Amino acid sequence: MSKIDDKEIKLRKEIEKLNSELATAHRTKEVRTNQLFNSEERFALAMRGASDGLWDWDLETDEVYYSPRWKEMLGYGEYEIEDKLSTWATMVHLDDKDFVLNKVQKYLSGEAESFEVEMRMQHKQGHEVFIRSRAFKVSRGSACEPIRLIGTHVDITRQKKAELFDKRNTKILEMIAKGKPALSIYDEIALLYEERHPGMRCSMLELEGNKLLHGGAPSLPKAYCEAVHGLINGPEVGSCGTSSYTGKRVIVENIETDPKWADLKDVALPFGMRCCWSEPIKGSTGKVLGAFGMYFDYPALPNKEQSNDLTSAARLASIVMEREHTQKRIRDLAYTDELTKLSSRTHFYLNIESLIKECARNNRKFGLLYIDLDNFKHVNDSLGHDAGDFLLKEAAQRLKKACREVDYIARLSGDEFCIAVSDVEDEYDASHVAQRCLDLISQPIELIGRKFTPACSIGIAYYPNDGKDIQTILKAADTALYAAKDLGKNRYSYYNKDLTKKAEYRFKIQQYLREAIEKQQLTLVYQPKIDINTGEVISVEALSRWNHPELGQISPVDFIDMAEQIGMIKSLTEWVLKTACGQSTLWKKSGLPAVRMAVNISPSHFLDSDLVPLIKKVISETGILPEDLELEVTEGVVQTNQENLIIFEHLKELGILLAIDDFGIGYSSFASLKHLNVDFLKIDKYFIDDMLTDNKSKLLISSMIEMGHNLGHEVTAEGIEKKEQFNMLQQLGCDSAQGYLFSKPVGAEQISVLLGKKLTG
Ligand code: C2E
Ligand code: CA
Ligand code: CA
Repeated sequence: MSKIDDKEIKLRKEIEKLNSELATAHRTKEVRTNQLFNSEERFALAMRGASDGLWDWDLETDEVYYSPRWKEMLGYGEYEIEDKLSTWATMVHLDDKDFVLNKVQKYLSGEAESFEVEMRMQHKQGHEVFIRSRAFKVSRGSACEPIRLIGTHVDITRQKKAELFDKRNTKILEMIAKGKPALSIYDEIALLYEERHPGMRCSMLELEGNKLLHGGAPSLPKAYCEAVHGLINGPEVGSCGTSSYTGKRVIVENIETDPKWADLKDVALPFGMRCCWSEPIKGSTGKVLGAFGMYFDYPALPNKEQSNDLTSAARLASIVMEREHTQKRIRDLAYTDELTKLSSRTHFYLNIESLIKECARNNRKFGLLYIDLDNFKHVNDSLGHDAGDFLLKEAAQRLKKACREVDYIARLSGDEFCIAVSDVEDEYDASHVAQRCLDLISQPIELIGRKFTPACSIGIAYYPNDGKDIQTILKAADTALYAAKDLGKNRYSYYNKDLTKKAEYRFKIQQYLREAIEKQQLTLVYQPKIDINTGEVISVEALSRWNHPELGQISPVDFIDMAEQIGMIKSLTEWVLKTACGQSTLWKKSGLPAVRMAVNISPSHFLDSDLVPLIKKVISETGILPEDLELEVTEGVVQTNQENLIIFEHLKELGILLAIDDFGIGYSSFASLKHLNVDFLKIDKYFIDDMLTDNKSKLLISSMIEMGHNLGHEVTAEGIEKKEQFNMLQQLGCDSAQGYLFSKPVGAEQISVLLGKKLTG
């Protein structure tokens, strides 16, 4: 500063001298051109020597002289730009130009006593240079009319940048103090250092457990931030993953070659990043909270200033991260129920609000279970609060166990709990959870040495049918809860009464089905499959029947599905297999012509590892020959998935036959068929139904037959009801057929009549 002042003083003296020389010349009216010439030359020399830029504006000719240093300051050589007023005009920042000219005007007119401005000018390389300009006028005559304006240029960019940096820094501290959102502060911090080091891009990552989460990186591409989000840190995981793991600074000069970036460079290089320096962000106790990263688009090591900035940037970010952590701790305290450790009422409201928003956006529904322990007040009053608390804690654990992964549970108050059942497919999903709650809560518990059997009542309401906002839906669930209590407690009730009835009916059927399977009350019927050319029965398909004394005949389509839901499908299949195979050996023993036995296996069971051992067991127990057993499975399981293919292989190794049921309507299986070792394709009834009227169906059947044959499978058609269908299938080259035309599924005793006959409809 003082150096500049010294120079100014010198210059001022020079100009004063010039002025007085000029004045003297005027006074004596003897203008000695020679003398003036000399002094101008002297001035020019002075200008050349100065380290500040100098300019001299002849107001009469409008010519401006710029000193070499003036030009150099803006990146130009001595002869590169013209000595004109317009040169200055094109270089000064547009926003500053009028203000500067205005100041000049005021000084020249005498309105202002001095001239001093700060302005931005453009460097040849495009960046901004902050300039402080001071000027002095040279006047002539008694009227002191200004004829020249001579000024200096000082580059104050560094100083200005430091000021801006301080301002930004203060702004960030202010944002921290005012509790502004962390993400916006992270962005500000990044911009602060990016402005200071042109070309630099900064990022802040937060550490949660061992996972790095995106904090702020306003200048890094979104795709990169997303790729890094969720990264697990470790001893060699990029720069930030490593620094947050080791707690030490990590300088990577070249991302392309550094082993720490081996697994990550493919994410960074496409976005131009070439070097990355990272400083762990540590809290006041020294715990690593995250990592600060500085990137450049070329390989580099930090200079002293950058290195210092890396330290201070991480320190600044740590203030914000530490604040976040503290707030999270406070939030956790407010959002967790002390006693049960479930979510608190406050959290419940927040969570349901956002669940409502999410469901509204995605057009989804969710069920809300309002749960109240039955007779809890009695426990509290008679056994004391400790026993009451114990029961609440135990109930909370049991209810939590009843929830699925996606469900959300909270304790609202006293003995009231709420469960939000999300991802619901139908209205029954909530009742399944409710039923599990009832079952689990009613397990006996010991309270002060006494056996006690708790119970609860549950009200169920659905978003959006029973309420579109939190108050309405809670009220609906509460109303339903009271209905459940009125109906005798220890049960659930829907807000929509019809649903309660339906759910109860369904529940009842499920109970009955469980019983029917356990007590083996189902029966089997058999439907023949015939050779299309000879009309001989070559196999029979076993089909399950359930005739309930109260509910009547229930379709297998319904009860098979239900058996899967209640986890009884394996027991059912085992019973079917044993009965059907046992029947087959009985027929054989009684001297009937040999036929194969086909059994349907539901997809979920087919993929179960239990299936192969079960088939082995059935074969050995019933004495059926493996080549007399055929399993039918739908297309759904026929996928290229390696595990599924292995099951096919294992089954084939046993020597049994396999058929793809309902072929043509499931997943397109052309690609997967290639890998499959099956014996039959059973074209679905869907195509047979309209093959006589729809040419497309006929074409499809014809292609399926051809393709099946080419791949070495036999082709069966199912659901044949008309002679014409049969004839056409015969023409198309189909191998075997099944349908009401030949025989409906019949009881075991009737099958013996059919065997040995020719069935051609
Ligand atoms: P699916 O395996 O496709 O069996 C054929 C169904 O079509 C049977 O119905 C059969 O009675 C019926 N059907 C056969 N020919 C004709 C016809 O010409 N016209 C008409 N309209 N229908 C015909 P069902 O017995 O009601 O069985 C329905 C489905 O239930 C079966 O379809 C099968 O997927 C499943 N299913 C039945 N029993 C069992 C079983 O024991 N285990 C498993 N996993 N599924 C079974
Ligand atoms: Ca079948
Ligand atoms: Ca079928």
